[in-house]
Amino acid sequence: MLDSLVATILSQATSDANSGRAFESLKAAFADWDAVRKAPARKIEAAIRSGGLARNKSRTIKRVLETIHAARGETSLEHLRRAPTERIKAELGALPGVGPKTVACVLMFNLKRPDFPVDTHINRIARRLGWAPPKASAEATYRHLNARVPDPLTYEMHVLLITHGRRTCKAQRPACPYCPVLDACDEGRRRLKRSVRTP
Ligand code: SF4
Repeated sequence: MLDSLVATILSQATSDANSGRAFESLKAAFADWDAVRKAPARKIEAAIRSGGLARNKSRTIKRVLETIHAARGETSLEHLRRAPTERIKAELGALPGVGPKTVACVLMFNLKRPDFPVDTHINRIARRLGWAPPKASAEATYRHLNARVPDPLTYEMHVLLITHGRRTCKAQRPACPYCPVLDACDEGRRRLKRSVRTP
């Protein structure tokens, strides 16, 4: 549970490769999560430097570990592994610096629960496809997608949308003419019409 939570914190605003390197480096530098909790933030920062935003992330990780230890007397979240989803959301969401997307990532990737994480990329694609209102926040899109996407499809759909955002539906200049879901996308059709009108 803690591996998953810390890995998700490290994944913010960087590539999978960079955050993976930072996570491995952190695990190699300390014996366990309790040792990370007791360490000065600058040592944690040095261990995760390859992941970007190391200063902020080291402080978040340390505060999270300290909060867990203060509440439970141990640096562990294993008591939540079989807990009801709503309790996991409440406990993880109350930790400092842990937002709904991080909680949803732990639920889906680590615990295989049907909870759909929404980051800026998924939010962008869901709004373009009309699965969420055009100006929906990530939190609003989270509610729309979790109501719409059938539970058994949560994980695969998430991974597909991430891949689609990287390859085709990019933030700037989405490749609508080559998009496999163009027929189902109002935004894509609008963009194509505009490009035909604008020589
Ligand atoms: Fe994105 Fe364009 Fe495809 Fe719509 S048609 S999903 S905007 S790439």
